[in-house]
Formats: sequence, structure tokens, C-alpha cells
Amino acid sequence: MTTSTTAARSARLDRVRERLAETGVDGLLLSHGADLPWLTGYRAMPLERLTVLVLPREGEAVLVVPELEAPRVPVLPAGMSIRPWSDGEEPLDLVAGLLGGDVSRLGVSNRAWAATVLGLQERLPDAGFFPASRVTSVLRAVKDEAEVAVLRMAAAAADRVAAALQGGDIRLSGRSEREVSAELSARLLAEGHRKVNFAIVGSGPNGASPHHEAGDRVIGRGDVVVCDFGGEYALPGEDVGYCSDITRTVAVGDPGPEVRECYDVLRAAQAAGVAAARRGVAAEGVDGATRAVIVEAGYGERFVHRTGHGIGLEEHEDPYLVEGNRELLEPGHAFSVEPGIYFPGRFGMRLEDILVVEAEGAEVLNQADRGLVALEA
Ligand code: ZN
Ligand code: ZN
Repeated sequence: MTTSTTAARSARLDRVRERLAETGVDGLLLSHGADLPWLTGYRAMPLERLTVLVLPREGEAVLVVPELEAPRVPVLPAGMSIRPWSDGEEPLDLVAGLLGGDVSRLGVSNRAWAATVLGLQERLPDAGFFPASRVTSVLRAVKDEAEVAVLRMAAAAADRVAAALQGGDIRLSGRSEREVSAELSARLLAEGHRKVNFAIVGSGPNGASPHHEAGDRVIGRGDVVVCDFGGEYALPGEDVGYCSDITRTVAVGDPGPEVRECYDVLRAAQAAGVAAARRGVAAEGVDGATRAVIVEAGYGERFVHRTGHGIGLEEHEDPYLVEGNRELLEPGHAFSVEPGIYFPGRFGMRLEDILVVEAEGAEVLNQADRGLVALEA
């Protein structure tokens, strides 16, 4: 772990405490999910044994962790200590004791086990509980420099895989979607990802299903193929990685004029979304910008999902680029811009890059060719 990472985590803790004070929340109880690694660098395994960071508004934060997991906990930021518990102890009693009796509003990890929450409610009958994301998600959405640096490396690694796809190094013709998906996954790992989150390969009619699971369909001449893949990338020595997510659509042989025209619309829509992404613009404004181009071209009904999602420790997190989200974009917001056009029973196409909003405009992290590359049939 680098000093800058530890310093960044301390700064995040300060921001959380400020927000607890502003919102009148007594504390957070962070178990499974991304809030805990964001603050501590430690990701709890989804075990039945309880791990929770007890983070009161004031005073020391304490990571309650099973004794046998304690060796995996990295050096914690200042103001945090660790309290291992051994089998035979009741960790929920320990948590209630650390909080003391005088708590009325507590945020709990969105992904904490129900058993944890129910056990806490029993022990703290006067406290009100709500999802911790109400405190943390707006903070986590704004990436600090340490986070942007890792997102940039993750995107560059995904770009190298996309370049291999577009360069013909990953053969498509004559192979099943599943085989291509496996190769995309293997290459993500070879390019430094610690894990693969998904590798969608939707060929021909399957491309019209945005989250198609790669299957047995054999790819052949004339197919338009949507490849959407990403995983988690971590710095050496870090237990916590940031996500990549890229989509490129390729053709096997000449796709013909209809597909090319449609792709021109898609590309213009994606560029319009990227151009709209700047500080002070509402998140829904980016969605509006991509959608306007697609609607204008007559494909409005074929664009069946939101324009994008925030990305960080999780593949999908705030801010969401969706109609109705009036949250204003600000420097540090990282998200995808990924319009798609889908013709059920025939073909689909999507183009996706990850962006980070800057003081002026936005940095586009993915740089792989955005054209419709036609591969050898
Ligand atoms: Zn994607
Ligand atoms: Zn995405």
C-alpha cells in the first residue's frame, strides 16, 4: 500500500464524518459491500461470521473482524483500530457495546446480511436504521486522484483487449460466443486485471439482447457482434480494485449499408453524450444528449436502456445517467456513456467508454477505436 492511498483513505473518513454531522446521523455500520474497502482497503469476504466497521460520528472507528480474518486486514488509516473477535464470542453484542446506548440514527451497509440488521435491531430497539448509501454514495461517486489513477489503468488494460479484438488477434469467425468470451476474459487477466466481472459476446440476433449471456451460437459471416467486457484492476499489494467496462461492436465480413448507417447514428450519439458530460450539467442531460441523436434518426424505440452508470469499486454505482436524475455532474464523477440500438431477432450494437468529469470537460479513459471494425469472415 502506498502512503498516498492511506492518506486518501483518511481524507475519505474525514468527508464521511462531515456528512454524518451535516445529516444528523449517529454512525455507520459497514459490513459487506464497497463502502468498507473504500475507507479501509479491506474487503470482507461474504462469510457468515460478522465483519463490520463501527464508525461513530465522533471518536475512534473500530473494525470488528473474525480473528481468523484479521491477518488479511491491511494497515488502517489513522483514527481506526481493529477488534478481532473469536469463535464463541457474540460479535453483535460487541458492536452494540461499542455504539453505547445513545444512538438513534444508524446507516447500515446496503449489502449487510439480513441476520446482521435484524440482530442489531433487537439489540438497539430505539435506533432507526437506513441504508448507509444515503451517506456514502454521493461521496464515493466523486473519485479522488488515487482512484482516478487506478480507473485509468483499468481502462487502458481493457483498451488493449479491445485492440486485440479489433485487430483480428481474437478470432471470431467459426467460434462460439462462449469461446470468444473465454478468450476476452483470459486477456483481461493477462493485461493485469485481478478478476473478470463479465464478458458479454452477443452475435447476430443475440446482440439485440443488451445483457446476453455468451452461448453456443457459432459466429459467422455477416454477423454484427457486441462485445462488452470488464473486470477489477488493482495496484500491486492492494486488496481493493477498481472496475473497467468497455463495449465495442465489430462485424464479421462486410456488414452492409443498413448496419453501417445505423452505426454512424450510434457513434454520433455516443460522441454527443461525451460532449455533454461536464461539470454543472444534470446527469439526465447526458442521457438526453445521446437519446436526442438516436430519436432524431428514427431509432428512439430501439434504445431500450439508460445511457450509463457510475463506476468505481463497483461496476454500477452512482451517478446513473438516466432520465429523472437531476444530480449535477462535478469533477471526479466517473461513469460510462453507452448508448445502444437493438433490433430484436436481427442484430444489436452498443458503444461504451468510461469518462471522468474534470474542471473543464471530461477525460475519456477508453481510447480504443470507436469505428465499426469489419473483421475477416
Ligand atoms: Zn459494459
Ligand atoms: Zn457499462
